[in-house]
Amino acid sequence: MSGFIAPGATLGVMGGGQLGRMFVHAAQQMGYTAAVLDADAGSPAGGVAQHHIQAAYLDDQGLAQLAQHSAAITTEFENVPAPALRTLAAHRRVAPGADPVAICQDRAAEKACFARSGVPCAPHVLIDSADGLATVDAALLPGILKTARMGYDGKGQARVSTRDELRTAWQALGGVTCVLEQRLPLAREISVVVARGADGQAVHLPVQQNLHREGILAVTRVPAPDVAAELQHAAVQAALRLAEALDYVGVLCVEFFVLQDGSLVANEMAPRPHNSGHHSIDSCDVSQFDLQVRTLTGAPLVAPRQHSPCVMLNLLGDLWFRHGKQPVEPDWAAVLALPGAHLHLYGKAEARPGRKMGHLTVTAPSADAARIIALQAAQVLGIEAF
Ligand code: ATP
Ligand code: MG
Repeated sequence: MSGFIAPGATLGVMGGGQLGRMFVHAAQQMGYTAAVLDADAGSPAGGVAQHHIQAAYLDDQGLAQLAQHSAAITTEFENVPAPALRTLAAHRRVAPGADPVAICQDRAAEKACFARSGVPCAPHVLIDSADGLATVDAALLPGILKTARMGYDGKGQARVSTRDELRTAWQALGGVTCVLEQRLPLAREISVVVARGADGQAVHLPVQQNLHREGILAVTRVPAPDVAAELQHAAVQAALRLAEALDYVGVLCVEFFVLQDGSLVANEMAPRPHNSGHHSIDSCDVSQFDLQVRTLTGAPLVAPRQHSPCVMLNLLGDLWFRHGKQPVEPDWAAVLALPGAHLHLYGKAEARPGRKMGHLTVTAPSADAARIIALQAAQVLGIEAF
């Protein structure tokens, strides 16, 4: 199923979250119609797509409907069951494919892929039984215990320093298959978004420097202010190598740690656009969502060019609760008074602490100016300075 799918066709997306919403916007801008499959009647992407199929990911009827509507189908949610993508792929072009998605869904398989591709990752061990806990190498402690599957935004993780803590944490995580990783001395966190077409051609966004707070992305800065050019080059090369190794078609994000000794270590991959790449909508001439549309439709891939330095602030539900238990809408007018501020809200009905409600990208003629204005926005919104 190769060839170019021209505007006018319908593109399908599995999942109705904010990533799906921004994909739909990009697809519609280029003249495509969009179909979203998501069980939630109020999903961010379902609300903007022309077709919203309200069904569970493994609902045969829902999948058949999505395939019927769509010339090609992509995914926006990392944990869409790989078998659902396989079912769709029997009828329609699906990108990314079920196999690379399955690898990215499983931390153990993901780390094996890093190893095969010659990309270093944290020392780790798979834990799938109580017996396994007893024989864990002491060198992996202090460590971070992570469920092998279904984790996101720091959920399904526990920091452990001793064997006792490890045992308690594994039980608290439900005794499911986990990966214990050595806790590494991080200097920085960065990510790279690559897009690879069915013909093997690949392009990438500039390296993104990320600040996480409590396991959730808080701030992204591009260009990465504190990462040497050679290291940025190495990260891009590693991300491209991984896309190649997975024979990947679509948008792939690879998260890396820069350690205090200056070395580069891969953390994890996301088989879709990534929160840290949202800035590209406003700071680059081709966004990560444009790239997703292009890889899906078989359109030519051109290298994105960043035209403006930028800072992206994540807008979590916590910002609604600065004044008490009743949610209060943040002062958007004050934020919009700042030059170069681009507000993105995802249309979620209810704010909850830790919930991603939107993001704000500040673009400016220089990185310093972008940071100064982003700090002003942070102050207005009650986001800690960075
Ligand atoms: P998401 O999918 O939202 O990126 P996640 O829940 O999959 O997050 P990770 O990316 O594995 O979680 O970890 C979240 C954060 O925890 C990392 O960005 C990093 O700040 C910290 N962290 C994770 N693993 C390690 C490690 N081995 N050593 C030190 N810090 C770590
Ligand atoms: Mg992560």
